[in-house]
Amino acid sequence: MKTVKLKAPAKVNYRLDVLRRRPDGYHDLRMIMQRIDLCDDVEITLSGNPGVRVTCGRDGVPDGPANIAWRAADALLAISGRGEGLDIAITKNIPVAAGLGGGSSDGATVLMGVNELLGLGLSDERLMEIGVKLGADVPFFIFKRTALAEGIGEKLTAVESMPPAWLVLVNPNLHVSTAWVYQNLQLTARNDDDIIPRFYGKVEDICAILANDLESVTIGKFPVIREIKERLLRAGACGSLMSGSGSTVFGLFVDGAGAKRAAERLAAESGWFVAAVKTL
Ligand code: ATP
Repeated sequence: MKTVKLKAPAKVNYRLDVLRRRPDGYHDLRMIMQRIDLCDDVEITLSGNPGVRVTCGRDGVPDGPANIAWRAADALLAISGRGEGLDIAITKNIPVAAGLGGGSSDGATVLMGVNELLGLGLSDERLMEIGVKLGADVPFFIFKRTALAEGIGEKLTAVESMPPAWLVLVNPNLHVSTAWVYQNLQLTARNDDDIIPRFYGKVEDICAILANDLESVTIGKFPVIREIKERLLRAGACGSLMSGSGSTVFGLFVDGAGAKRAAERLAAESGWFVAAVKTL
């Protein structure tokens, strides 16, 4: 029995601009996306038993075909034309419906893992084309670099110079529906010519671009997000922002010791999910 064991990392958005609503119902976005070392564990085993089976065992995450990992595996099995099956076990460490892209990352990791396991030889570009049909953030996790993401998130340009940083993630155990956030977003006219820099020298340069158009929508429903942002700044972060559609908030730190101290303090003061992580 052939098995691969893989890490599926989370992401944060250093920047999320919603540029316009599109006729197809999606939105054109402009994001700066960064992978971090908080990971789900994904184990994929080739089986003689045809079909795909996904087990996850986490409340709020479906086990069967509704799991994005299931759909990723099924898509590649169909392309391969082979009669084998795949057993996928996911250990979720990334908070769910939290703006950290956990489901998309699991899906991307399964695409890359099954490509390897079945020896399909598909290029990353081809995997990204398959991936965007599963979720707008899937191609970013196949791209594997810090990225400027445009379109619905699938047009990716590498940001080569992003400095490494420490982050403290805080999630107040609130699940946020991304669809709900976009439905409640009041789009304001914005000048999409204002440039996001491509080059960054130090962590403070990242703090200078932090902005998320979805933040005020989620804060409107969950004001605790604003409180967490303020508490991260008081704990020593040089900037703080909600990631994606929330509800995770991150604080940026220039050094690991400061991040770990802040994480310990916030964990002791609250019942929230708190983690000190590093950029990948
Ligand atoms: P999105 O912006 O795509 O909603 P997110 O990072 O906020 O992403 P995810 O943790 O990816 O949130 O989960 C979003 C929803 O996707 C969950 O409510 C869950 O039911 C569903 N889902 C399907 N497969 C997975 C998976 N492998 N891991 C987590 N959630 C999954």
